[in-house]
Amino acid sequence: MLVICLIAIRAASCLVPGALRAGWRRAWVKEVWHYARLLRTHGVKQRYVRARIRHHTMGAIRDAWRLRSTMPGTRRWISAVRKPEFVLGLIALGLAAILIGSRGVAITRAMLAPHYADAGRLVLISEKSVEVGGRHPVPPPLFNFWKAENTTLTGLAGYQWGRHGVAWVTPDFFDVLGAVKPERFLLRRIRDWQPLDSDEPLGVLGRLKPQVTPEAAETNLLDMAARYRHFQAASLEPQVIPLLARIRQPLYMYGTMCGLTIMLMLVAAFVGIRADQRRTGQVRRRYWAYFCAKAVSLPVALALVIFEFSRATSFTFTGEATFVAEPFFVWLVILALGAVVWWNLADQRVRCRACLQTLQYPVRIGSLGAVLFNHAGMELVCCEGHGSLYVPAPSSDYVQRGGWTGLDSMDIDSEPVRR
Ligand SMILES: [Zn+2]
Repeated sequence: MLVICLIAIRAASCLVPGALRAGWRRAWVKEVWHYARLLRTHGVKQRYVRARIRHHTMGAIRDAWRLRSTMPGTRRWISAVRKPEFVLGLIALGLAAILIGSRGVAITRAMLAPHYADAGRLVLISEKSVEVGGRHPVPPPLFNFWKAENTTLTGLAGYQWGRHGVAWVTPDFFDVLGAVKPERFLLRRIRDWQPLDSDEPLGVLGRLKPQVTPEAAETNLLDMAARYRHFQAASLEPQVIPLLARIRQPLYMYGTMCGLTIMLMLVAAFVGIRADQRRTGQVRRRYWAYFCAKAVSLPVALALVIFEFSRATSFTFTGEATFVAEPFFVWLVILALGAVVWWNLADQRVRCRACLQTLQYPVRIGSLGAVLFNHAGMELVCCEGHGSLYVPAPSSDYVQRGGWTGLDSMDIDSEPVRR
């Protein structure tokens, strides 16, 4: 225990300015040594000695941090962290990292605008499985039968894909798709296109004739399946789904969730601006612009992370979601969006209404026992002297929200005391 504490003190001494370091370390090491020896000679219980030594070590670390934070360099850094530009810079950095890490949001772009000619007519064809929403690939004899007999599709092509970005396709695949060797198919990155040469069941891509709906094509294939059943003892139920709707499904789902969050926070900003106008007749433009910037950029960043780096945009080659834990993931996304809203409101609340720096020097006032007079709470002030914020203790009053008192001479006229 003592050895660990001495190592901790040695590590903490790196924080201490160079000129004071050697002396500081010597003093703290001696202090802890002496204290441990003193307690032991007095025959105090081992557990208590350990607790005291730990306590002293924490004191040493706190002392080292205090010495470090009084240095001009650290002070400049701390005051920079308090500024709104720091938060916005961090968000911008995160967005830049997402852009670079995802090759310029490739999946999102592929969802919004796939580079296939007349993509609205493309459909994925599979067989219904016993489980709800499940899909089976199509065996090659059935695929050939459909290809020869159908009346609703201009073209039908089969494909398979492997683990390492290799896809095997029938010869007319690219004619049906309307693009030659695209970078992505069904949002999956394909590095190598090969001709198909196996008898494994296929994923089937079709192109509808103009003015034919996917439902009409499905009915047509269903009628043909009845005929096919005469000479093949199999139960078949083809399923036709539009390709675009399938690849855009995650976009609509998670995009809506993030969009609603943005709307909610913008409505909150609008309510705040109205309250400003009613109370003082003017709007704190910078304060609300900062809030709106966070309200828009954070959910957008979250949505991009979901689209680019999660399994939400990953499909099997029949267009089935590979994602078994989807309900759980949706719940996680809702939690994350809740955290974004909570942090945005909490961060906004502890910022100076004039200069947007985080308020400092929290002072606890009143006591929780005096709830009758609503005294208990916390007061924070702006380092630049613009004003102070009163945050009531949660247990004292749920109705009364914190009050901002402007101290700056510029602010006093426009900010009447509100308690
Ligand atoms: Zn201020």
